[in-house]
Amino acid sequence: MQRLNLLRTSMPKRIAVYPGSFDPITFGHLDIINRGLRIFDEVIIAVAENPTKNALFTVEERVELIREVLEDNFGATVEIFGGLLIDFVLARGATVIIRGLRAVTDFEFEFQIAQMNRAISQDVETLLMMTSVPFSYLSSSIVKEVSSLNGPVNGLVPPLVKKSLDGKFNR
Ligand code: ADP
Repeated sequence: MQRLNLLRTSMPKRIAVYPGSFDPITFGHLDIINRGLRIFDEVIIAVAENPTKNALFTVEERVELIREVLEDNFGATVEIFGGLLIDFVLARGATVIIRGLRAVTDFEFEFQIAQMNRAISQDVETLLMMTSVPFSYLSSSIVKEVSSLNGPVNGLVPPLVKKSLDGKFNR
């Protein structure tokens, strides 16, 4: 037992980075984060600045929403990132990038990014996690579209995110 504890404390922390736009965070993202936390000691949610993408929420708003939704979810941290993802991952001492896979349509894109990141660094692995069935059709884009038309988004995003969406669409 003592030996096991000794081994545990001397083992390096397993850190993964979960990058994305999170515009805004959905229950689909949260599912991946919670499942990631079962595998890793720390999951860093890296919110992309992406100035080229037309985001509804500013990067600061997206980070704040994630922080509030996660509350004190032990092991999950949130950061803004810009530039090359691999540089960010290596700078944080992480060894894994987590991405989520929904439909087959996600596969080609994710495959391409994973191969590119592997070509840049062989020290970082990409872990593709299958979506959970209830969230397989869920994306931030669809949430924004439905919310903009005043449709129901309960069950797709946490209440706090729904409130922020209402604010964005002047309700
Ligand atoms: P990006 O613009 O980088 O695709 P997103 O915020 O849309 O950022 O998504 C971040 C990651 O989360 C991606 O890997 C995406 O496939 C995954 N993801 C998004 N929604 C879901 C979901 N409902 N189930 C599983 N994975 C998801």
